[in-house]
Amino acid sequence: MTDEPPFGDTTTAPFWEGAERRELLIQHCEACGAHQFYPRPFCLACDAPDPSWTTAAGRGTVYARTTVHIPVDPALEPPYVVGLIELEEGPRLVAALHGDPAIGEPVRLGWREREGAPPLPVFSREEAAD
Ligand code: ZN
Repeated sequence: MTDEPPFGDTTTAPFWEGAERRELLIQHCEACGAHQFYPRPFCLACDAPDPSWTTAAGRGTVYARTTVHIPVDPALEPPYVVGLIELEEGPRLVAALHGDPAIGEPVRLGWREREGAPPLPVFSREEAAD
């Protein structure tokens, strides 16, 4: 197909375009005000189609975390920590954690560069990120 976005699919392409600008985009429903992540073609709260996009503030707290001890990707050398981050806006997303923050600790967004692909969000302790 000629209409394929450069990265992701038609639903997720805006997220990856935001990542290229180091902006964490989440969806926002104009009908009911809900935020959601990961991207979907409709609002999970009210079923309205085509949620808009907004840039998340990049702050959240660690909702859950785990340490990965086995190699699952050549680009990631274990051990490393992966967390479920609850964003200020409400949605949760899985991302790498730097600095070993505990569950409940505030964290701030950063980015991990990748070759040939948009950067990935990573989160670090709030006070360590400045
Ligand atoms: Zn909605």
